[in-house]
Amino acid sequence: MPELPEVETVRRGLLPVLEGGLIARAEVNRPDLRWPLPERMAERLTGRRVTALRRRSKYILADLDSDETLLVHLGMSGRMLISGAQVGVHYRDHPAPQKHDHVVLHMAGGARITFNDARRFGAMDLMPTGGAHPLLEGLGPEPFGNDFNGPYLASRLKGRRTPIKSALLDQRIVAGLGNIYVAETLYRARISPLRLAGDLAEAQAQALVPLIREVLAEAIEAGGSSLRDFRQANGELGYFSKHFQVYDREGQPCETPGCSAVITRTIQSGRSSFWCPACQR
Ligand SMILES: [Zn+2]
Repeated sequence: MPELPEVETVRRGLLPVLEGGLIARAEVNRPDLRWPLPERMAERLTGRRVTALRRRSKYILADLDSDETLLVHLGMSGRMLISGAQVGVHYRDHPAPQKHDHVVLHMAGGARITFNDARRFGAMDLMPTGGAHPLLEGLGPEPFGNDFNGPYLASRLKGRRTPIKSALLDQRIVAGLGNIYVAETLYRARISPLRLAGDLAEAQAQALVPLIREVLAEAIEAGGSSLRDFRQANGELGYFSKHFQVYDREGQPCETPGCSAVITRTIQSGRSSFWCPACQR
């Protein structure tokens, strides 16, 4: 499941092809993804220029010169592929159409952007630029934004009787964090995912903010290098390999110097938490 760094990597990969580009033709091959696609979607995209390509939380937002914005969510398995353009050091020719190519943007310059999603948990919609959308409503601040700071996070965690892991996954508190980067953040903070959010000392709560930014920035940097050398020879954006310190490392030795414990996995709210029971309290 793509989290903020993967979505940001997709956005940066799309930037040179999409931002400022003209959509010569849009192909919409089915009426719905997770939800119905907007009415006359192909018609509303065709002939439009993309004036800006933004990200909010895990959503990519393409502003059009029609004062509409195309909202894209990759869902669980959604993939963006670029062909007919240079990406990083590689050029990829247009592939033969694949099953599950649901939306294809044919750019005036010859590039093609294909949204392929086998499981169809992804979503696309058109909304007025700058307007409200149900999926964006109630989202908390961006982790890199000024509204997200130590005092803010401490105040949101104060008195909360839910585990810190659940609190950091709560998109109303901070937007864009998911299971992977919450695990990595709590490991660096040496805080158990089971600790109640409200039990954290003020200083501990505040110290989470720079750690969240550090973990996300490192992942975005890893995504950036994957775009530059573009190892994904199939033209796919956004999925890159990165070393995790705890995520998905159950049974492997803890990487903290001097710690001889192994990483454990605990199920919380139906999802795996990976953590070191010796380092994280
Ligand atoms: Zn440890």
